Amino acid sequence: MSRKFTLDRLLVATHNAGKLEEMHHLFQPLGVNITGAAEMNLAEPEETENTFIGNARIKAHAAVKATGLPALSDDSGIQVDGLDGAPGVYTADWAETPNGRDFIMAMTKTHNLLEERNAPHPRTARFCSTLVLAWPDGHDEVFEGTVEGTLVWPMRGKQGHGYDPMFMPVGHDVTFAEMDHDAKNLISHRARAFEKLIAGCFG
Ligand code: IMP
Repeated sequence: MSRKFTLDRLLVATHNAGKLEEMHHLFQPLGVNITGAAEMNLAEPEETENTFIGNARIKAHAAVKATGLPALSDDSGIQVDGLDGAPGVYTADWAETPNGRDFIMAMTKTHNLLEERNAPHPRTARFCSTLVLAWPDGHDEVFEGTVEGTLVWPMRGKQGHGYDPMFMPVGHDVTFAEMDHDAKNLISHRARAFEKLIAGCFG
């Protein structure tokens, strides 16, 4: 059985404003307030593992260590079948520039690589999210969620964040960036991992 979280405020170990916004919407109905890593002036640890679980553990435990509070982290990314699963755990890295993250560049790179390989259509992909909830005694709980979809080009939509404008979830004819918060939060990889977290640690 998973360990229960019993406080009414939870530290979320992310500096990603898009993820934080989604977490805020997901936690609101539970009456749990969230605090982001930037609000607590936490440094971003280096993500040195090559799995979502490994990097999520690094982020959650670093935040716990820095604050003495339980902390939740998300490590996520997109796996593109025509690129043998890339960018995967390196999804955020593909967007890095000297001036911060540029997801239009990262999506263009993804599309161009698929074109170079003459990858067949539909260009299938999935978003993956791994949530780790960690406590000061070193205990943690891990929950995973995925959502399957196809990549569209050109990008469509203005909502969401990251790779949302090129990802169309299975069973829908709009991209994540064309959906509002609530619609994305019903089906997203993070929402699916979150459902398991709620059942395990908040039930
Ligand atoms: P990390 O988990 O902070 O290493 O970064 C994961 C990266 O995956 C994000 O910066 C986004 O580019 C991408 N990503 C994760 N979840 C989503 C999502 O829900 N929509 C779009 N992009 C996402």
